[in-house]
Amino acid sequence: MKGRKEGASAILPLFEEEEPSVELQEEHQKLSERLRHLSQKYYQEDAPEVSDEAYDQLYQRLLALEEQFPSLQRHESVTATVGADPEESFRKIIHLSPLLSLDNAFSEDDILVFLERLHRFLTPTTDAFALEFSVEPKIDGLSVSLRYEKGTLVSAATRGNGALGEDITRNALTIPTIPRKVPGLEVWDMLEVRGEIFMPKQAFEALNAQRVQDEELPFANARNAAAGSLRQLDPAVTAERSLQFFAYALSHTLPSLPTQWSLLDQLRSWGFLVARPIALCSSLQEISDFYQTVFAQRASLAYAMDGIVLKVNRFDWQERLGTSSRAPRYALAYKFPATRVTTRLQDIRIQVGRTGVLTPVAILEPAALDGATVTRASLYNEDEIARKDLGIGDTVVLQRAGDVIPQVVEVAMKAPDHVPYVFPLHCPSCGAQSVRLEGESLRRCPSGLSCPAQRLERLVHFVSKKALDIEGLGRRSLHSLITTGRVTSPVDLFTLKLRDAQDPLVYCEGWGKASVPALFSSIEARRNVPFERFLFALGIEGVGETTARLLAEHYGTYAAFRAASRDLLALQEDLTALSGMGLKTVTGLCAFLSCPENIALLDQLAGVGEEAGAGLLQVTSWKPPLQEKRTPLSGKIIVFTGTLTQMSRAEAKTQAERLGARVGSEVTRSTSYLVVGKSPGSKRVQAERLGIPILSEEDWQRMGETQA
Ligand code: NAD
Repeated sequence: MKGRKEGASAILPLFEEEEPSVELQEEHQKLSERLRHLSQKYYQEDAPEVSDEAYDQLYQRLLALEEQFPSLQRHESVTATVGADPEESFRKIIHLSPLLSLDNAFSEDDILVFLERLHRFLTPTTDAFALEFSVEPKIDGLSVSLRYEKGTLVSAATRGNGALGEDITRNALTIPTIPRKVPGLEVWDMLEVRGEIFMPKQAFEALNAQRVQDEELPFANARNAAAGSLRQLDPAVTAERSLQFFAYALSHTLPSLPTQWSLLDQLRSWGFLVARPIALCSSLQEISDFYQTVFAQRASLAYAMDGIVLKVNRFDWQERLGTSSRAPRYALAYKFPATRVTTRLQDIRIQVGRTGVLTPVAILEPAALDGATVTRASLYNEDEIARKDLGIGDTVVLQRAGDVIPQVVEVAMKAPDHVPYVFPLHCPSCGAQSVRLEGESLRRCPSGLSCPAQRLERLVHFVSKKALDIEGLGRRSLHSLITTGRVTSPVDLFTLKLRDAQDPLVYCEGWGKASVPALFSSIEARRNVPFERFLFALGIEGVGETTARLLAEHYGTYAAFRAASRDLLALQEDLTALSGMGLKTVTGLCAFLSCPENIALLDQLAGVGEEAGAGLLQVTSWKPPLQEKRTPLSGKIIVFTGTLTQMSRAEAKTQAERLGARVGSEVTRSTSYLVVGKSPGSKRVQAERLGIPILSEEDWQRMGETQA
C-alpha cells in the first residue's frame, strides 16, 4: 500500500498498455521535479511553500502513477528516497545505519490492508494472531541520531537523506533533555540513540508571537520551528528555543532487548524522555480505539503530534519484514486529519507594527477548533487576501497549522453580496498614505514616530522583557502615558520622574500611590543597560536579539558603534562582510542611522561620541558569555579566496566558526586574516593594500590543528 490515500487509484485513468503514455511520463517528471523542489524548501530551508496536505496530495498522485506503471520508478525516484541531501554549510555525518521515513495511512481501511499484508508475509511460520504492535505518538518534530561512544555523547546529526545527516552536535548540546553521559551505554563502543527533537507548543506559540512582533514571518508549524531552531550555525540561538528530545529507537538491535516495548522501557531507565501515551495493541479495534483516544487528548498535550505510529513489536519479525529504500515495512504512520472548521469572517482589521508594517487580522465569528475558541487569525499580507479572494461576510475554512496557530485556509462559501476585500491604502492610525516597495509583500505606514500606533508599538518593544525589561510598564500603562502627553519617545521615560512634580501621575486614572513609585524605581533600575539589549530595544528593522548580539560583539562598546555610524558607507562595507549579517539587516540599520531623529534619540539616550555614557543611560560594554571557550581565533574575521584544495569552502567556514572566528565575504579593515587558495582574485590585492595578514591554505590548516 505504501501510504496510498484511500481512493487514490481512482484518480488514475485506466490504461490498457504496459507503458505509460508520453503525457503521463511528462506528468511524472513534472510531479517529481515539483516534489523535489518542495522537499528542498521544507527540509533544507525550513520554509515550506505549500501545506503538508497539498504536498501529500501531489505525493499520492506520484505514488499512484508509479504503482500503475512500475517502469516509472527509478532508484532515485522521490518515492524511493528519504528527506533531502544535507545542507552545504553543515559538516556531514554518516549514520551507523540508515534513518528512514514512514509510510502513511489515512483511514481504517489503510490499516486493514497493512495488517493483511503483514499476516500474509509472516504466516505460515508465525501465528498471525500473535502479531502485536507498539503504538506511539507521531511527534511533529524532526528525527535526529545521537551517537554515544562508551556512554558519552560524541555527535548529533539530522536525518538528512537518511544515510548522511547534518552535524548539529553543538546545537544538540544546548538541549537539556539530551543526556551527555549515559552510564548504561558504557559497554558499547558506539551506538546511536534515535528520536525526535521538537518544540513544545507553549514555546512555539511564544516564539511565533515574538516573530510577529519583530515583523518576521511566523513559522508555519511546530516542526518547521524546531528544524529552523536546530539547524542554526549559532548554537546560542538554538539554546534560546526551548527544544526537547523524545527517544524511540537505536541504530542496532541489542540481544537483551527483544521488543520495541522493552526498548522504550530501557530508554526511559537510561534517562531519555519517551513520548506518551503509548499502547500495546493486537487488533484493528485496539489500534482504532487508541487512535481515537490520542486524537481526543492531543489538544491537552504539551507537544504537537500529527498521528500515531504502529511498529511490529518483535524485533526478529521486524528484521524479517525488512525495509524499502525509503521506509520500514514493519511500521506505519496513521495520520490525523487536519482539524478544520468553517466560520464567518466578520471583519478584517489592520494592525500597525512598530516599523509601520500593516498586518491584516481576521476577526471571526467564535469557532470551536480542537478544544479552543478561535476569534482571530493572521492573514499575513494583502497578497494572501487577494489570493484567497476573501470578502467580509464570507464563510471561511479555519485550520490549525501543525496543531497550534489558526489559519484561514480558503473561502468555503462566498457571501451572497460578496465583495473582494480591498486593502486600505492609508494607515488606520495616522491616515498617511501607505507604501509598498517593489519586490516586497508588505505595505507600510511611512510616518515613523509621528504615527501614534508606531509610537506605542516602539515603546512597547523598548520596555519589553528582552529589551530594557522595565517592570510594570505594559501596553495599557504606556497608552495612558502617551495619551496624557507625558511620553512620546523612550527619552521621556527617563525624565518622567523629574517632570512629575508639575503634573503628578498619581492623579491620573489607572495610577495609584503604590504603582507610581514602583514604576519610577523600575525605570531607575534600568539606567544601566547592556550594549546588546540597548541595540535590540531600539527596534531597528531586522535587528533582532541575535543580530544585536552580533553587532555588540563586533563593536565591543557603544562608543565604537556610534563612532562607526558617522561614516555610513564604511559601516555598510564593514557589516556586509560580517558573517551572519544579511543585506536586508545592513540596509535597515543604515536607514535607521541616516535619519536625524534617530541619531538625536541615540545621543539623548546614550550620550554623544567620546562622551558616550553622559546620556540618560549607561550603556555597558559587550561581555562574551562565560561558557564560551576562548581560542586565539575567537572574535577574529577570516576571509577565504581562491580555490581550496584540502577542504571545501563550507568545511573551512565551519572550521573557522568552530574556533570562534567569523567568516567575512569581503576584505575590509576589520579582516583579521585572508586565507588564499589557488588562483586568488582581487581580494589578495585588497588585503595587501590594507596590510591584512595573508595565510596559505596549509598555514590555515596548521593553525586549525594547533588551536582546535
Ligand atoms: P513523516 O513525517 O510523514 O514520517 C516519518 C518521520 O516521523 C520519521 O522520520 C520520524 O522523524 C517521525 N516520527 C515521529 N514520531 C515517531 C515515532 N514515535 N516513531 C518513529 N518515527 C517517528 O515523514 P517525513 O519523511 O519526515 O516527511 C514527509 C512528510 O513531510 C510529508 O508527508 C509531508 O507531510 C511533509 N512534507 C511537507 C512538505 C511541504 O512542502 N509542506 C515538503 C516535504 C515534506
